[in-house]
Amino acid sequence: MTDQYGRQINYMRISVTELCNLRCRYCMPAEGVCKKSHEDMLTEDEMIRAVEAAASLGVNKLRITGGEPLVKKNILSICRRAAAVEGIGEVCLTTNGLRLPELAKPLREAGVRRLNISLDTLNGEKYAYITRIGRLEQAMAGIRAALEAGFEKIKINTVLIGGFNDDEIGTLAELTRYYPIDLRFIEMMPMYDGGDFGREAFIPYTRVLEQLPELESVEPDGGVARLYRLPGALGNVGLISPVNAHFCAECNRIRLTADGKLKPCLHSDREYPIKGLDFEQMRRVMEKVIYEKPAWHGLLDADNRSHAGRNMNQIGG
Ligand code: SAM
Ligand code: SF4
Repeated sequence: MTDQYGRQINYMRISVTELCNLRCRYCMPAEGVCKKSHEDMLTEDEMIRAVEAAASLGVNKLRITGGEPLVKKNILSICRRAAAVEGIGEVCLTTNGLRLPELAKPLREAGVRRLNISLDTLNGEKYAYITRIGRLEQAMAGIRAALEAGFEKIKINTVLIGGFNDDEIGTLAELTRYYPIDLRFIEMMPMYDGGDFGREAFIPYTRVLEQLPELESVEPDGGVARLYRLPGALGNVGLISPVNAHFCAECNRIRLTADGKLKPCLHSDREYPIKGLDFEQMRRVMEKVIYEKPAWHGLLDADNRSHAGRNMNQIGG
């Protein structure tokens, strides 16, 4: 279905939980999230109904996210059922990777085709700092397990953070030389008011191009990243610029939160509840959400806080 600005909306991101086994400083508070009552969250059946409603309106691509989707007990069943919905051509998942050693193969068997894995540093001490509670070895074991499980595509997402990982841009990009993965640098979005990073930590995507002049431009693959490649590398380097060069005019997505709110835009405070609705009711709400999707996210620069009114772990990135 197209929205009022003529954009074809064919992509839904579903956050299946707000909970996480990490506490990344740009994403959520140190104390974690106050666990909402079970009754306030979507059930598995409601999530699948929402996928069916979305598919009936032309959504053919899903991304499962969180919080950390792999801490959700029924994650394999959600993925398997979502992948089986008529019209859904592709189920992808975004994870911090920690639980991939045990779940990579089962996820692949459940029908997940592509994985995005988040990794902001290759330094153990810095990993422990940025995630507050994580160990780098766990994330690396997850990436290895993903490579062995035969996904169609693996992408690593790195949030650019000034004074933290700007000295690792080259080292992280080097991963694409030796592994068939894409490494995507993402501008940090000013989501969380109490977050640990202010304007001084914002790095524009252009810094990557300055530091890596050998990058060669590559044809876009239909995603939101500008693509480049190091000479002779196996994978691409992608640059995602939600702040400095937003891609709202080509935005094709809607979002569903774990507590059952449809969001037409990541940074908008507009939310439409669908918890407890039957298929037809969900479909009607979804039609309205798609039609009324805002023209752009209104995030002018790194000083402007997002209007989303939620931390990233409560939306799904
Ligand atoms: N837990 C999973 C993970 O980390 O991949 C999935 C959820 S996480 C919210 C999804 C993505 O959002 C991650 O790649 C994360 O780095 C990114 N993210 C979180 N907060 C962000 C922020 N303030 N700016 C830019 N990206 C952010
Ligand atoms: Fe958890 Fe992902 Fe947020 Fe990190 S970015 S705290 S792993 S939800």
